[in-house]
Amino acid sequence: MSLLTDFLRKKAPRPGAEIPAYYRRALAISEILLAIYFPLNVILFFWSTRQAQWMPIAMFVMVMAGLLLIGRLPMRVSFGLYAAITLVWGFWYVKTFGWSCGGQHFLILLLFLTFFNIYEPPWLKLFYFVALISFRMLLFSYSLSFPPLYALSTSTSIAFQTLNSLMFFIMMAALCILFSSNLQETERKLRLDNQELHKEAGTDPLTQLPNRRAMLNDIDLYQLKWPGETFSVAIADIDFFKKVNDTYGHNCGDYTLRMLADLFREKAGEAYSVCRWGGEEFCFFLPRKNLDEAGRVLFDICNDVRHMKLRFEDVEFSITITVGVEENDFTSPLKDILEQADQKLYMGKKSGRDQVVI
Ligand code: GH3
Ligand code: MG
Ligand code: MG
Repeated sequence: MSLLTDFLRKKAPRPGAEIPAYYRRALAISEILLAIYFPLNVILFFWSTRQAQWMPIAMFVMVMAGLLLIGRLPMRVSFGLYAAITLVWGFWYVKTFGWSCGGQHFLILLLFLTFFNIYEPPWLKLFYFVALISFRMLLFSYSLSFPPLYALSTSTSIAFQTLNSLMFFIMMAALCILFSSNLQETERKLRLDNQELHKEAGTDPLTQLPNRRAMLNDIDLYQLKWPGETFSVAIADIDFFKKVNDTYGHNCGDYTLRMLADLFREKAGEAYSVCRWGGEEFCFFLPRKNLDEAGRVLFDICNDVRHMKLRFEDVEFSITITVGVEENDFTSPLKDILEQADQKLYMGKKSGRDQVVI
C-alpha cells in the first residue's frame, strides 16, 4: 500500500514543487482545450443524432474536476485522471461512431505528455508506450469486430472527423509550443548561469579583478591568436604590506588591496590588463609592448601608486610597489617569462624597493 502511495505521490523534483510547473501547465492547457471540445461534441451529437449524449457531459465534468484539482493532486494522479478521460473517451467514441471519426487521435497526446515529462523514469515511459499502443490496437480490432452504434452519414462523419482532427492538432501545437519554449527558457537560464559561474571562477572576490587563472588563459589565447606578436608581463608586489596589516589591521590591508586594484583598473584597457596574482601581488599583461614600452607604462603606474592617498578610519597613509618586467622572447614558455619577471621583482626588493626593474 505504501509502495502504491509512494508511486502516486512521487518524490518532488524540487523542494516544494511536487509537480513541475511546465508539466502542470501542459496538463492544464490540454484540459482547458478538452473543456472547450466536450461541449462542442454535445452540440454536434445532438445535431447529428437528435439525442442528448451523457458521455461528453460526464467527460466535461471530469475535465473540470481535473482542472480544479491540478494544483492539489500529485503529478501522477493528475496525469492518471487525464489519461483515464482520454482512454474512456477514445473507447466510447469508437464504440459509438466507429474508427473513422477520429476519437482515437487523442491517445497520441498521452504518449507525447508522457515522454516530455522529464521527471519520470524510462521504465515507466516504456510501460506507457506499450500500454498505449496495445490499447490502440485493441480498439482498432474492436472497431473491426463490432459495428458502431450509430451509422453516420458521410457529411456527419466529416463533421466529427473535422472537429476531432482540428482539436487534436490544436492541442498538439499548444503542447509543442509549450515544451519547446520551456526548453528554450531552460537553455537560456543554463547559459546565463554558466556565464556567471565562468566569470566567478575567473574573478578574485576581494578586488573583483581577474584572478591568476583567468589571466593565464587570456595570455594563452593571445599567443594562439597572434603567435608573432611581442608582449610583456610584469609582476608588482606591495612593499612592506605586512606592516600595513600589522599597524592598521587586516581590514585596512583589504581596503588597500581594493584601492590599488581600482587604480590599476582605471588605467587598464588598450595598454594592459591586470589581475590579482595572489596575496599582495598583481600581474600585468601588456600586449604589443616591448620591454622599454612596458617599463614606461609600469613606471607611470608606480608613480601613481606612490602618490595615491589612502585613508582608512581616520588614518592616512601611502604605499609603494616594486615591479619586475619581462618581455616575450618567442622561445621561452610563458611560465619561464613570468619566472623572469618574478626574479626581477626580487632584485628590486633587494635593491631598495619602490622601483621598476626591466
Ligand atoms: P615585501 O616588501 O618584502 O614584499 O614585504 P611584505 O610585508 O609586503 O611581504 P610579506 O610577504 O612579508 O607579507 C605579505 C603580507 O600580505 C602577508 C599577508 O598577510 C598579507 N596578505 C596577503 N593577502 C592578503 C589579503 O588578502 N588581505 C590582507 N589584508 N593581507 C594580505
Ligand atoms: Mg609578496
Ligand atoms: Mg610585499
